[in-house]
Amino acid sequence: MEYPGRLVLLGNPVSHSLSPTFQNAALLAAGIPLVYEAIEVRGQELRPLLEDLRKISAAGNVTIPHKVAVRDRCDELTELATRVGAVNTFWFKAGRLHGDNTDVGGFDTAARALVGGEPTDARIALFGAGGAAAAVLAAAEGWTGAKVSIVARNTTKADALARRFPDVARVEKSVKRALTDATLIVNATPVGQQNDEQPVDVSKISKSAAVMDLVYRRGGTPWVKAARDRGNRAADGLSMLLEQGALSFQRWFGIDPDREAMRQSLL
Ligand code: NAP
Repeated sequence: MEYPGRLVLLGNPVSHSLSPTFQNAALLAAGIPLVYEAIEVRGQELRPLLEDLRKISAAGNVTIPHKVAVRDRCDELTELATRVGAVNTFWFKAGRLHGDNTDVGGFDTAARALVGGEPTDARIALFGAGGAAAAVLAAAEGWTGAKVSIVARNTTKADALARRFPDVARVEKSVKRALTDATLIVNATPVGQQNDEQPVDVSKISKSAAVMDLVYRRGGTPWVKAARDRGNRAADGLSMLLEQGALSFQRWFGIDPDREAMRQSLL
């Protein structure tokens, strides 16, 4: 098999990313002679770097803040990357840049694992209106009867996002109303990543609701710990992160990675 010339993560910052650890574990387990490298890329560096990567048919992932810029530079987009409006996985084929979005599949798998199957007729309270929130909405579009209330501090962004997903989404200005009847509560903001802040007080959440934090931290996030202590089913962003990485690996190499080896590498 012909492998990509380089396998990279493009972002800024990338210093705390867990992706090199689990992608390198997957590469080792598959016997693929490549090393996954995280590269710090500032805005103006992206375009020339992509041209250099094109010359060697590289592949990789994209993270904050380049997911939309890379989408704009792609020659081919998958349906999901188009729907979300962002690319987190890329590869070159015959000199053309291809982009996909595996955050959608990553979230879908993690949510199903949390609730024990497709979240049918889910009432979702979604905090945040950025790229990760768009991936959540794209996944929810595939679930029977799902309805999503978007809660965001920037109502212009929230309105724009809801307009892109009219079949499932609406904007809710009141946190209390968004939480009433919610069966799944999702944090798609960075709250809790750097400190012990929580996107919403868990005492306001019904005990039967499932709680999904897209934020991940070694040792877990404070919101998920608080929700579990209260008796809610809860998962942090690690399961989504691993699954989006596993789906990226499939796109690059056409084979399933060893998910257990990936998981073990993070312990
Ligand atoms: P993004 O595009 O920058 O969007 C972030 C959203 O959160 C925006 O709506 C932003 O509002 C809002 N926000 C930021 N700080 C906030 C605060 N202090 N209080 C309330 N709202 C706040 O980022 P993203 O790509 O969607 O990522 C969001 C989070 O999800 C990040 O922590 C990221 O690491 C995580 N994520 C995890 C995975 C995974 O695999 N687990 C995948 C993707 C993303 P403004 O527009 O007003 O700033």
